Amino acid sequence: MSTFDCTKLFADDVFTIKTMRNYLSVGAYDSLMDTISRRASLDPKIADEVADAMKTWAMEKGATHFTHWFQPLTGATAEKHDAFIDPDREGGCVMHFSGKELIQGEPDASSFPSGGLRATFEARGYTAWDPTSPAFIKRGSKSSTLCIPTVFCSYSGEALDEKAPLLRSMDALAKQVCRLAKLFGMDVDNGKRTYPTLGPEQEYFLIDKQFYESRLDLMQTGRTLFGRTPAKHQQMEDHYFGAIKPRIMAFMEDLDRELWRLGIPSKTRHNEVCPAQFEVAPVFEELSIAVDHNMLMMEVLRNVADEHGLVCLLHEKPFAGVNGSGKHNNWSLVDPTGRNWLTPGATPHDNAEFLTMICILMKAVDTNAALLRAAVASAGNDHRLGANEAPPAIISIFLGEQLYDVIEQIEKGKAKSSKTGGVIKIGVTSLPQFPRDATDRNRTSPFAFTGNKFEFRAVGSSHNCSAANTVLNTIVADAIDEVCTELEAAVKARKNFNEALQGILQRIVKKHKRILFNGDNYTAEWRAEAARRGLPNIMTTPEALKAFATPATVKLFEKHGVLTKRELESRYNAHCENYEKTIILEANCSVTIARTMIVPAAVSYQRELAITIADTARMLKAVMLTESRDLLKNVTGQIEATLKGCKAVEVTVKAGHPAKILPAMAKLRAAVDELEALLPRDQWPLATYAEMMFII
Ligand code: ADP
Ligand code: MG
Repeated sequence: MSTFDCTKLFADDVFTIKTMRNYLSVGAYDSLMDTISRRASLDPKIADEVADAMKTWAMEKGATHFTHWFQPLTGATAEKHDAFIDPDREGGCVMHFSGKELIQGEPDASSFPSGGLRATFEARGYTAWDPTSPAFIKRGSKSSTLCIPTVFCSYSGEALDEKAPLLRSMDALAKQVCRLAKLFGMDVDNGKRTYPTLGPEQEYFLIDKQFYESRLDLMQTGRTLFGRTPAKHQQMEDHYFGAIKPRIMAFMEDLDRELWRLGIPSKTRHNEVCPAQFEVAPVFEELSIAVDHNMLMMEVLRNVADEHGLVCLLHEKPFAGVNGSGKHNNWSLVDPTGRNWLTPGATPHDNAEFLTMICILMKAVDTNAALLRAAVASAGNDHRLGANEAPPAIISIFLGEQLYDVIEQIEKGKAKSSKTGGVIKIGVTSLPQFPRDATDRNRTSPFAFTGNKFEFRAVGSSHNCSAANTVLNTIVADAIDEVCTELEAAVKARKNFNEALQGILQRIVKKHKRILFNGDNYTAEWRAEAARRGLPNIMTTPEALKAFATPATVKLFEKHGVLTKRELESRYNAHCENYEKTIILEANCSVTIARTMIVPAAVSYQRELAITIADTARMLKAVMLTESRDLLKNVTGQIEATLKGCKAVEVTVKAGHPAKILPAMAKLRAAVDELEALLPRDQWPLATYAEMMFII
């Protein structure tokens, strides 16, 4: 095996800061660096030079085209390519890319969801270069394309995408974090920046392409609408962290190389809980970059799978009855001196900055639990959240034993000690002892403190995680704002800072302690306890989305300059519309499969059975055929149930009631899944769960 130098490949197709230095004049480089690392406004005078440098670099990588790459409200990314070519007057052409083309694009925006922010006759929409996210190359089979990350907005500057509000929320958060940092005496004018970090763990399924192509439901809706759970699925717990099969390993090797080439720091790969389920996790990065990288990662996952004769399923619940997929959103905060604010240190009880941030997060999450739930609401995720799978739809925080104890001390007055973990003895003398973590893990909590970061686990595997992080940044900014206002008043009144802080934290803990839960989030006892505590348990997307439309939400987002009332309304509408379209599409697809594939197959078998029974009865005594007749009765009964089920689904679709469509689909599914157990395998028209999960 030849040695492989990852350092040469890493970010080879990214217009990195190092690359810029080689392609830009000193003046342009310094000016652009000012924008990237200090967030100074971009100097339009350097745009032409930067564009030309990007073009030269991209052409060396085989690029013929450029595109503004953006993240509309479809949940996917969007791109429209333009060639660099410019005909000269002599019948030939030159390759050209101007500063104007770099900075601003004008795609026809009328066909993107806008939730009413624009009508189709107002087609104008703009993409604007985001210089803080590096340009990169996408490779095709013959040439490549220079991709420029952009934000997407309307003629009047209203956000039409996921990125603009995310960047605004990061600004809002940075502003409040600096205020708080100043109160703690941190040097906030040292030229460094404060920003949130994100490490999104991405779960996914892989299945063989031939099975995928036999499943109209997977092709059209991303999930199986029918299918019996096989005898063996995940119950033996032998897949999680299991040895990786050679075919999957070959896929993962190519995946990592593609990701590294794009500068995505893919770090961890492993088998997940369910057969055919896997995870890939990158090293965390500044939040907006991590989101761009996650969007790209999902695309690379699909493409590399395709090259290996596989299909990557990113849906939250491709298979009923087994684990779904999420995107664990590991979030933390770099303080204005460049350190992680959420590092507790060895003695968290006397780490005031750390404890203040923990209390702020308690306040933010408890006050806005419904809003966080709304930020992860989608038709696909409804099958995970609240469907007896981690995490539940009830938002609560896991702090672990040590921190919980410290928080209880704060509630009583002052935190004086931290429980320590001690050492773990394995009982084999040749093995080292190692210090025990102060907290165990909790796999069922939707919002868990995991050592130096919070892990928001309710984000769906297919989601653009911008929405969740926009909400998270904004609610934390708001909680910091309130704490700072109180602290600043105390400082102004020359009160003792530590005493004032202690009082504030004590009040926060008293009011918001109900959001803390260290136990098993799966249980019915927790659901009852959460209800007693008044924590919302919002089961469906339509219910959850309402949190986006409340006056309190409008006030919150407007106050921090993240979203206007109109922008919020438009998002609310777009998400409601998307939900309804998804449900109706699934319903129509169910009926099509049932009527055109399942019923015909079942009727053939029914006829075969009927003829066989009649023929046999002529030769043998009828009494010998009681079980065979039962089988025929059973098949006939389920065919009737399937046909009735189709009708019922059609009626609910016509009436346009998503809340009634889903139960009707469940009934239809039950009949079809019964037939699957009765029909001969070679007459069943769909790939089975066992085949999809195990033949890979
Ligand atoms: P787990 O054991 O829960 O899978 P890991 O330690 O593997 O946790 O980390 C999961 C993710 O969290 C990784 O993407 C990692 O880079 C990210 N992460 C670690 N520290 C931070 C941080 N300070 N901010 C954001 N994400 C972080
Ligand atoms: Mg994790």
